[in-house]
Amino acid sequence: MKKHNFSAGPSILPRVAVENAAKAVLDLNGIGLSVLEISHRTKDFEEVLDEAVALFKELLHIPEGYSVLFLGGGASMQFCMVPFNLLEKKAGYINTGVWAKKAMKEAKLFGEVETVASSEDRNFSYIPKGYAIPSDLDYLHITTNNTIFGTEYKTDIDSPVTLVADMSSDILSRPVDVSKYGLIYGGAQKNLGPAGVTFVIVRDDILGKVSRAIPSMLDYRTHVAGGSMFNTPPVFPIYVVRETLRWLKSIGGVPAVQKLNEEKAAILYDEIDRNPMFVGTAQREDRSLMNVCFVYSDEYKDMDTAEFVNFAKERGMVGIKGHRLVGGFRASIYNAMPKESVQALVDCMREFEKQYAK
Ligand SMILES: *Cc1c(COP(=O)(O)O)cnc(C)c1O
Repeated sequence: MKKHNFSAGPSILPRVAVENAAKAVLDLNGIGLSVLEISHRTKDFEEVLDEAVALFKELLHIPEGYSVLFLGGGASMQFCMVPFNLLEKKAGYINTGVWAKKAMKEAKLFGEVETVASSEDRNFSYIPKGYAIPSDLDYLHITTNNTIFGTEYKTDIDSPVTLVADMSSDILSRPVDVSKYGLIYGGAQKNLGPAGVTFVIVRDDILGKVSRAIPSMLDYRTHVAGGSMFNTPPVFPIYVVRETLRWLKSIGGVPAVQKLNEEKAAILYDEIDRNPMFVGTAQREDRSLMNVCFVYSDEYKDMDTAEFVNFAKERGMVGIKGHRLVGGFRASIYNAMPKESVQALVDCMREFEKQYAK
């Protein structure tokens, strides 16, 4: 049976990237060695890394003065690296959910943390708006897409202080004005590649301002100077990232994928709004184009979540169960998700309605 992969992360990758990665595992560029076996100091790998960095810069229009890094440790490592490198006295955080909270917890180890705005009052179902950003912050941290709660910033905000963003789950899904940010980071495993590599886009001039000593591996300057090769980088995940970026370029880059993402999300949200059995959990204008969260409507709220999850599973849908903090269902429809799979889910919801609606 054809599978439709709606997993939140690790998640669907472009088929061509997976195929090329499989080939490179057996034989990289016909050199008779696997990509898993080569030294990171070889020309073959250095070309991969250089191209991945160049494509990232090209596709996101990253201006001069920024470095692109590929590191280990996941986005969660960035929760501590960011304050380690940037927090001297006080940082501001917008609390939009689980990941934002985890980032705040780490920052508190390094200095004062001010919650500039929060959507916790309504279970993180919206993106806070209309707050003032204090000018005495070392930086302001936002989470542009809230993977668990299905909310997303649709535009780049203006900040009087250095803006830091966790873009783990919406990087390269829409154009971003990188010049508005001091630092952007994320785990690759949502929109960019497999688990095991983390991207960081950092404006070089924000570094070196804090007074504390920073261990080499946790100091961004180490990795900027070493071109992500201070130590052994995650060679294979970077290879897959390069393939994913090549694919993104081949389909027309970020504006093209944004259009596709808008179409896919519209198909699914329209069905959620139409189908009497389901209701979306995020406030309309803040609905994520990447993670679509929905639950049974009031009339059907006594139904077991497993009913629809299993119904969908029987039709090839994978990863539909929602996070326990939201309940219900979550369909992650990242860049690589084909429109046909979204349509298949919509068809499945209609069939479910036919069978179960009162
Ligand atoms: C998945 C995710 C993380 C955690 O990433 P790891 O690489 O597992 O540490 C952090 N932030 C957001 C927004 C995420 O979606």
